[in-house]
Amino acid sequence: MEYVQLFGLTISLLIAVALATYGWLYRSRNGAPAIVILSVLFFLWHLTTFFEGLSTQIETMRFWRDMQQISVFLTPFFLFRFALDFSENRLRWPLTALIIIPLTGILLIFTNPVHGLVREGYFLIEDAPFVQLRVDLTPLGALSLIASTAFLLVAVVMLLDYHRHVSLKVKKQIRLFVGAITLNVLLTIANLTLLRGLGYNVLTSTLYTPSAVILFYGFFRYDFFVVSPLSKEKLLTTLKDQILVLDESNRLVEFNEAAAEHFCDHHAVALEVGMPVWRFFPQPPCVPLGNNPHRNAYQEVAHPHGDEIRYFRIRYHSLQGNRRFQGTLIVIEDVTIDTQYEIQLKHRADRDPLTSLLNRTTFQQHYEQLERHNRSLVLLDIDDFKAINDAHGHAVGDRTLILFAAAMQEAAGGNAILGRLGGEEFGIAYQDIPSEEAKARAETLNRLIRERDFEGVNVTVSIGLAHDPDGSKPFDRIRAEADKALYQAKDAGKDTVCSDLDHPQ
Ligand code: GH3
Ligand code: MG
Ligand code: MG
Repeated sequence: MEYVQLFGLTISLLIAVALATYGWLYRSRNGAPAIVILSVLFFLWHLTTFFEGLSTQIETMRFWRDMQQISVFLTPFFLFRFALDFSENRLRWPLTALIIIPLTGILLIFTNPVHGLVREGYFLIEDAPFVQLRVDLTPLGALSLIASTAFLLVAVVMLLDYHRHVSLKVKKQIRLFVGAITLNVLLTIANLTLLRGLGYNVLTSTLYTPSAVILFYGFFRYDFFVVSPLSKEKLLTTLKDQILVLDESNRLVEFNEAAAEHFCDHHAVALEVGMPVWRFFPQPPCVPLGNNPHRNAYQEVAHPHGDEIRYFRIRYHSLQGNRRFQGTLIVIEDVTIDTQYEIQLKHRADRDPLTSLLNRTTFQQHYEQLERHNRSLVLLDIDDFKAINDAHGHAVGDRTLILFAAAMQEAAGGNAILGRLGGEEFGIAYQDIPSEEAKARAETLNRLIRERDFEGVNVTVSIGLAHDPDGSKPFDRIRAEADKALYQAKDAGKDTVCSDLDHPQ
């Protein structure tokens, strides 16, 4: 064996050890165990080549040459296995049974002395620069070698197919891997034709070394194994959001399980590729992107479902390819829990917890949003409420306030805004009602309260009323006027209604 070959072999052995160690460190990642096995196969290949080179006897040369065939036959298969793992192929375990092909090839080689099916003979060639072993294959031997090597091609095709569906980072990893395999094939062809013609004799095992170096570089450069590639299908199916992909003529191309379940539950529809689904979407925007492909749209919808209302956030993304509109990606997120929580929070912020009427701040806001024409503000203060509390206890006092609010709601009439402005002080605001009508309603309310049975408690109320015919009075002013009228009602012996019109200023 020449020194150059020995040097090449040593380097190749070291690289095989480095690859195996790296693969072992990441053995839990997709494809890493296959890399470890491949490295071991490389190592064995180099070692058996080395021993063959040291041998002088045809018998020992033959033995090491046969040992080499373990790597020759199994390497393409484990590249195929790597491709299955890396692309998270669902059939990876059943397809692993195909290992029977290279194993049969190896078995036939080792049992050849018995049947002679795969080897025609072993010859020593002595006219080369140094002594070499030539092995002649039978047609069956050649066939089993071709069948085993075909796994290499299948692996490349699988990786290239997977390449179309993955993120840029994983794309780079796959390109590197396919590049490494292609380089190896090119080097093998070059070795068999050009180099051999020129009188160079490169050992077959060494031909794998440049590819191994490229892979090793790729491990560090592109975080091979560190970022485990997620297959598109897996990502889609595990997402809770509904995903729908439409083509440029708005027909369904793809959808995930969450979408299938939702459409089945809510629309009683079984989604099928090719079906138009726009009619299930709220309008507008029915076709938000078709005419305006650069825009992405967003929508929130409420859906009655049984007794409850469910809320959905729909995002429409335009899919562009070659600067042309190619379809729409629809992502539907169930935001019922968030929306219900928001509604609850808003309710809490806007309303008095005891009576559920508007609180003072929100009451004022609502008053200010009323039509400017013929506004009225009615202030109600329960008479001698302290005495009710003292006589029956605070709990009964609370209960009375709740019942009082309910009575107000019943009697106030349509279009009224009701609020609790303080402890036992309430407000009613009207719009577009003449002052006489407002006063009449206040008097009715005053009578109803007096006559009503508040679970054994007698309640009366004093009411002050102020009117703003043209919306010129700010809230503070009309509030002060109604307050003044309320004082007058209290002064007049309570349980009565007074209005600013009784004593015009
Ligand atoms: P007036 O006829 O002059 O309005 O007399 P009043 O007793 O109704 O008025 P006052 O302002 O003296 O007392 C109001 C009472 O209302 C005092 C307070 O303890 C009671 N109160 C205020 N808020 C609540 C509440 O949320 N629950 C209960 N149970 N009592 C309350
Ligand atoms: Mg009071
Ligand atoms: Mg009171």
